[in-house]
Amino acid sequence: MTEVQLQEFKLEPDSELRFEVESKNEKVVLEVKSGYAELFGTELVKAKPYEFHTGAKVAVFTWHGCTVELRGKTEVSYVAKETPMVVYLNVHAALEQQRVAAEQESTRGPVTMVVGPGDVGKSTLTRILLNYAVRMGRRPIYVDLDVGQGHISVPGTIGALLVERPASIEEGFSQQAPLVYHFGHSSPGENLELYNTIVGRLAEVIAERCENNKKASTSGVIINTCGWIKGDGYKVLSHAAQAFEVDVILVLDNERLYNELKRDMPKFVKVVYLPKSGGVVERSSTQRAEARDARIREYFYGKRTPYYPHSFDVKFNDLKIYKVGAPSLPASCMPLGMRAADALTKVVQYGSGHGPTDADDPVPAAAAAA
Ligand code: ADP
Repeated sequence: MTEVQLQEFKLEPDSELRFEVESKNEKVVLEVKSGYAELFGTELVKAKPYEFHTGAKVAVFTWHGCTVELRGKTEVSYVAKETPMVVYLNVHAALEQQRVAAEQESTRGPVTMVVGPGDVGKSTLTRILLNYAVRMGRRPIYVDLDVGQGHISVPGTIGALLVERPASIEEGFSQQAPLVYHFGHSSPGENLELYNTIVGRLAEVIAERCENNKKASTSGVIINTCGWIKGDGYKVLSHAAQAFEVDVILVLDNERLYNELKRDMPKFVKVVYLPKSGGVVERSSTQRAEARDARIREYFYGKRTPYYPHSFDVKFNDLKIYKVGAPSLPASCMPLGMRAADALTKVVQYGSGHGPTDADDPVPAAAAAA
């Protein structure tokens, strides 16, 4: 459906304007005319134009009421009165109490993990909670374990960021000095052993850094995860929960997962069920793949601030290409004392034209990933 070019919306307190930009090369400009509004936890500046491009799915929420103007062609745009924002705010308040306690007792702040199936708003909730924390003067650590979309660096990696200011409306969280581990696939299922190894490594490094940064330590960690929650996906989540020693797990919109985690997690881990927002948009696998491509492009070419990458020639003979994960062998063919799973984190060099061969001096996978 095509909407008119200029639209004005009056939002009552506790409601949100949702809109999507679909058409190719389309641009929609948003401006708050009066009142206060926020976008996934970042406060919008009055009378400042914000641009949204193809693929954007946006919610402008207001606690106090506001008037908003949209310029450009939106696919849909409507005002919703039913949102779970009060529930999310209560979660933030509970985390904030734990941060205050951590500050007083000089202990670690809450480590929170957001889980749920695909397209329930996990990344959005993570962003909201981080934004609220940083707006309270905290310095939380943002961890993204979602290799499928990858909001830190590019898809196929996992990473962490120290969040020092709210996410920019158009560009998300500042990506200065992120800690990133390469995985190389868009789903953990492609190499579970490697995924668990790098998740464990990331958790260790964060724990070490927190020891030297009291402010970050008391502010806690918020972890976004993949939407894969069944079978091995569940094991991956449990492993991550253990590796990061999480205190709180927020389960979005899946009662089965909630009950399984309640049953399996130690008693001190609080498992909380949360409703998803009716505004979260489901994406097809093509749209996900497109979003992945766009993210990789953005990494090299920039989004708002264009980068100018340049190419230079390297002789093919000078290149050494390594791959993590050797073909798995049956246990009977393995050298004594080696597990089949070890092969999955082994670094192998691609020989010239003969496919992968063993590296002369294999690098331990964890060191290679770092
Ligand atoms: P997940 O991380 O669970 O896959 P996301 O948080 O990425 O889900 O949300 C999916 C899409 O829905 C995103 O494009 C996001 O911008 C959009 N979205 C999330 N919440 C809302 C909302 N309340 N209104 C409109 N769109 C939303």
